[in-house]
Amino acid sequence: MNIVIFGPPGAGKGTQSKFIVNKFNLYQLSTGDLLRNEIKNKTPLGSKISSTINSGELVSDKIVNDLIEKIISNDNYKNKIIFDGYPRSLIQAKNLDDLLIKYKQKIDIVLKLSVSLETIKKRILERQTKENRADDSEEIAIKRFKTYQKSSEPVLDYYKQSNLLKVVNGEAEISKINSEISVLIEAIKG
Ligand code: ADP
Repeated sequence: MNIVIFGPPGAGKGTQSKFIVNKFNLYQLSTGDLLRNEIKNKTPLGSKISSTINSGELVSDKIVNDLIEKIISNDNYKNKIIFDGYPRSLIQAKNLDDLLIKYKQKIDIVLKLSVSLETIKKRILERQTKENRADDSEEIAIKRFKTYQKSSEPVLDYYKQSNLLKVVNGEAEISKINSEISVLIEAIKG
């Protein structure tokens, strides 16, 4: 089973991904984490992308598509991936479909976490004090939300057409979201 978890920055994708990974024995593929690791490890790629990430824009499709292929092509993760923060543009969504065909896999469900801009701002500011992420200031949070609306929201229509999309209320308590997601995943597992 492969799952896409989708939603604006601060929607709780990472939190819910970790829960799903543990419960269903999957692998969390967070493009945000992969990219931040490059920066932390001071790799050439890291120095190339840090200003983009810290300004709230998207890293180029080519860079993330290459990172994604490394994971999808790895047999250890075959049909066990939860895509967290990817795809974030229509180009990425199409690339993901192509890669999944190439490696004989598919997406089984797309979970969208819905939250308001007010909640997002609040959560991102809380996270800033806890995790000290360089892109978690209020100004950059708003910029990231705008980037989401412009580049990422069109991906929803793409998945609506294929009937894979399930919307979950991301404003509810974490444990309530956990159980709602579990029910949806159990249903497709059959
Ligand atoms: P959030 O969803 O809270 O914004 P992420 O950790 O998913 O946090 O992403 C942080 C940043 O990393 C994004 O604002 C963007 O710059 C970059 N990024 C993550 N995933 C992608 C992606 N699929 N395509 C392009 N850039 C990405």
